[in-house]
Amino acid sequence: MTDIRIRINSKTYPAIGQAGKHQAIANLDLSMKAGEFVCLVGPSGCGKTTLLNITAGLDHDYDGEILLGSQHTHPRIGYVFQNPRLLPWRTVRENIELALDSAQSPDQIDPLLETMQLTRAQHVYPERLSLGMSRRVAIIRAFAVDPDLLLMDEPFVSLDAPTARQVRDLLLKLWRQRPHTVLFVTHDLREAIALADRLVFLSASPMRVLRELTVPIARNERHNEALIESYRQQLMNDYPEIRQLL
Ligand code: ADP
Ligand code: MG
Repeated sequence: MTDIRIRINSKTYPAIGQAGKHQAIANLDLSMKAGEFVCLVGPSGCGKTTLLNITAGLDHDYDGEILLGSQHTHPRIGYVFQNPRLLPWRTVRENIELALDSAQSPDQIDPLLETMQLTRAQHVYPERLSLGMSRRVAIIRAFAVDPDLLLMDEPFVSLDAPTARQVRDLLLKLWRQRPHTVLFVTHDLREAIALADRLVFLSASPMRVLRELTVPIARNERHNEALIESYRQQLMNDYPEIRQLL
């Protein structure tokens, strides 16, 4: 695993419906340690998906530099998109197998399916899955490539609260077994506190880093909702700029 630095001096899009450019990101500088779980928290439309796409190498149209450890080896990136993006004509298992490279054995999918409680659903087609199950498949597919960096774009959005919590707990279980470096996007501060080693608060566009904080709650206490809520309240009181974001 390698340390990561994301520096984006400027990212613009053509302005929609008018001449000129829309400045999506300006002077953003973000570093991550290997094995760290970082949550990006920012308002809708601030540029979070844009940042992940640039980091994943899907968008090259920006001014800046993405350093993913040693540049000699090509880093592997796992990406859980906001929409699960499963191929409807492939089974659950086949969707995951497609992500593997030729050196990887398909057998290694089995423990992932088991941890995410999808062993029995592995041969069904995506149309039969609930949204929560589809999200779990997308998470397995991203872990299966054994990524140097795992990008997750609001993977629990539009799930009801108990399902979101269940998938979150399963994700943490998987991450304890395979502690990859994770960059996780959310606009839900409780979710971020429950998951992250470090929180990075982002401004509305043009997006930049407003504040970074290490979560002071031990991992084995993260299931304590009252503790999470009291830390959330403390952040809102201590940092008015965070209250304005959410
Ligand atoms: P977020 O993921 O935080 O909701 P996005 O990264 O999707 O934000 O978008 C950031 C900003 O860039 C928004 O104002 C959005 O309208 C704009 N934007 C995103 N994609 C495009 C595009 N392909 N063309 C023009 N503007 C875009
Ligand atoms: Mg987005």
